[in-house]
This record gives sequence, C-alpha cells and structure tokens, in this order.
Amino acid sequence: MSVAVLRLGHRLVRDDRTTTHVALVSRAFGCKKIYMTQVDDSILGTIGKVCDHWGGSNEFDIEIIQDWKSLINSWKKNNGIIVHLTMYGLNIEKISLDFGEERNILIVIGASKVPREVYSIADMNIAVGNQPHSEIAALAIFLDRFYRGKELDYSFQNARMKIIPSSHGKRVKIRKLKKSS
Ligand code: SAM
Repeated sequence: MSVAVLRLGHRLVRDDRTTTHVALVSRAFGCKKIYMTQVDDSILGTIGKVCDHWGGSNEFDIEIIQDWKSLINSWKKNNGIIVHLTMYGLNIEKISLDFGEERNILIVIGASKVPREVYSIADMNIAVGNQPHSEIAALAIFLDRFYRGKELDYSFQNARMKIIPSSHGKRVKIRKLKKSS
C-alpha cells in the first residue's frame, strides 16, 4: 500500500509557504509522492534541500500534473482509493480508516475552493472536525490517525544528517560523504 497527496488549487506566491509545508508533512509522515497542479521553483528548491540533508530523495517525489481529473480517474481504475479532506465530510472520529492493505490511497487537499466534482468523484469525503482550518493540519492529523502514530518513527535511508533525540539542545549526526576519485 502506498499513500500519495494531490494538492489542488495552489495560488502562486500567496500559497507558496503553505504548499511547502504540505509537501514537508507529506514527506515526513510517510507519503511517497505529492502531485501538484501549480508550483513555484522555490518550493521545489526547499523540498530538494530537505531531502538532500535529511533524506528522501529516492523515497519521496514531487510530480507536476496538468490534469487532476485524469490522475484521479487513473488512480481509481487501478483500484486506488480517493480520500478528499474537507470540513464538509464525515467526521474522522466516526469512520473507519481501514482501507485494506492492497489499496493505494490518494489524499486530496485544497488551497482555496475545491471544484464541486471532487466531492462526488472521491470515494470518501473526510472531515478533521467540521470546522474550517488548514490543509496542513488536516493532512497531518489524517496521516497520524491513518498510521496510528507509526509515521512519527519514520526515517530515511539516504539521510546525510540524522537527529539524535535529546531532551536539551540540538544533537545531529552528520554522515561523511565518500569523495569520488
Ligand atoms: N473554504 C474552503 C472550502 O470550501 O473548502 C476551505 C479552504 S481550506 C483553507 C483549504 C483546505 O484545507 C481544504 O480544501 C481542505 O482540504 C482542508 N481543510 C480545511 N478544514 C478542514 C477540515 N475541517 N477537515 C478536513 N480538511 C479541511
């Protein structure tokens, strides 16, 4: 089973910081990929740097797409499940997140207004509480519920820097890169 995120409706410049954080949450909390319809180079640069330092360049991917409907339709054709996070959906507290091990999950989140079609094309419209808040919070809480906290232990294979958790201060182990001859 793999989990990916589809970020809909990024508004250039205005949403850059939020979209960067959506991508960081996706990477840190176990998603393999984020699809975006619009992106600024600065977002790609930030995520690239994070993957370079903390790992993930081979495990997490950003793909720019032109047509979100085709992506959703091909995901559905391949037995994937589409989960749309929206305050109008069924409260996450009241539903099962057991989608079956064999199904890949595409989590759709918006920036501003999400096209109405998404609400009907999605297999599930899930609310992280029925109040408006943020796509970053909704995604993080959904992933935490979905993985039951296991995503917090996630670490990447090819990290150059690794945190040594400590109750005080900042401890980081830096892996020396082999010099090419
Ligand atoms: N007014 C917008 C709408 O019609 O959906 C809300 C936009 S909100 C700033 C951006 C995104 O955050 C939404 O598209 C949704 O994915 C997510 N979001 C906000 N509140 C949510 C909630 N209570 N539950 C789940 N997702 C939420």
